[in-house]
Amino acid sequence: MKGVIFLDRDGVIVQDVGYLNTTERIRWVPGILEALRTLQRRGYALVIVSNQSGVRRGFFSWDRMWRVQREIERRLRREGIRILATYLCPHHPNERCGCRKPGTISVSRFLHQYPEYKNTPWVVVGDRETDMEFGRRMGAQTFCLNPRADDPQGTVLTDPRDLLQRLGRHAV
Ligand SMILES: [Mg+2]
Ligand SMILES: [Zn+2]
Repeated sequence: MKGVIFLDRDGVIVQDVGYLNTTERIRWVPGILEALRTLQRRGYALVIVSNQSGVRRGFFSWDRMWRVQREIERRLRREGIRILATYLCPHHPNERCGCRKPGTISVSRFLHQYPEYKNTPWVVVGDRETDMEFGRRMGAQTFCLNPRADDPQGTVLTDPRDLLQRLGRHAV
């Protein structure tokens, strides 16, 4: 195993349509399937960590959240992509739960379940500041998928496929 990539979901894997609550609104982020397929082939495990506060905000139910999630993972499998583990936080930011990013309880849970990844490289890919902070707290190599951003530190991806080169170049 090469390492593990902790992926944000909305805005990284599927387009961020704002509180994704129905499978009809699932759309891939362009380039993500090719990127994930290649990274998986290189030996990276793929893990999803996603804030889904729409549950506690009352926009959709817990069951609905998981129905959408299972459908995304089913479609990914159809594309040859396997998600090793998924951690969704349903809480409202006011609840201060610790599983909401940038909280890292999801990572503790993952390492408890898959301790073999403890000493492998960790990579975080997100599209918001909370994801970047999450990655910093974990000490992971962190990338921001944002087609419009300037990139003084070399951590911005304009396309998910940029990851293939970035992770190749800083071979970990
Ligand atoms: Mg996002
Ligand atoms: Zn939570």
